[in-house]
Amino acid sequence: MSTVKPIYEFKQGSAPLLISVPHAGQQLPPGYAEHLTGDAGSLPDTDWFVDELYAFAIELGASLLTANYSRYVVDLNRPPDDRRLYQNSAASGLVPLNTFDGMRIYLNEAPNGYQRQNRLTSYWMPYHRRLRQELTRQKRAFGYALLLDAHSIAPEIPALFDGRLPDFNLGSNDGRSADPRLIDCAWQALDGEADYSAVRDGRFKGGYITRHYGQPEHGMHALQLELSQATYLQSRSDPVIDDDRRGHLLNALQRFTEVLIGWQPGDG
Ligand SMILES: [Zn+2]
Repeated sequence: MSTVKPIYEFKQGSAPLLISVPHAGQQLPPGYAEHLTGDAGSLPDTDWFVDELYAFAIELGASLLTANYSRYVVDLNRPPDDRRLYQNSAASGLVPLNTFDGMRIYLNEAPNGYQRQNRLTSYWMPYHRRLRQELTRQKRAFGYALLLDAHSIAPEIPALFDGRLPDFNLGSNDGRSADPRLIDCAWQALDGEADYSAVRDGRFKGGYITRHYGQPEHGMHALQLELSQATYLQSRSDPVIDDDRRGHLLNALQRFTEVLIGWQPGDG
């Protein structure tokens, strides 16, 4: 019997920053794998190693919440009622049925209503409860809360977007998910990295987590950083870390994280 992993890992920090990593999980509940197609079995849409990339932030005082289960079980960055976040009809939903490349995930029938509800209750809700609990704690302790929702994606996915993604894709729900001054600080930190390309509210404006929890008028600030996997992987087909690229990337991520932790409401 393999041991069943907890839904998430949570490391409590001391600084006003929570980093959420909803898509790096590679775990499947017992019995799930046999229902997946060959295309889906390798979990190709995983945000590979993003939990490991941000491990440094614990030393800086950030709290880190990372999901252990694959986004194919339930997508933590989609709304519980599964309303659509993106215009693109190929975009995946709460319980994805197709990979980003448009291949079927399930060999036979898709999960039924009961199974979908069960995934929502058993995997989605506990993650979000923990996330909200930490933001509430930060707000009580510091007067505000700051959430970074951390992701990565392959630089080219023709079914999802045209062309090649920039290295750093900062999402702020078009400026609505955080104090504009915080968004400016975050953007300057990323845009100032000479060796990387960056875009603000481009193809990725922030998913459900960023949009839902980012309520600057209530002292809750949220940003999403979607990294191009070209910044640290050797290739898409075989997700192996390139050590040189990762080292370089971690320097930039550390500078970015320090800016977020150093920011305070009222800063220019
Ligand atoms: Zn993601």
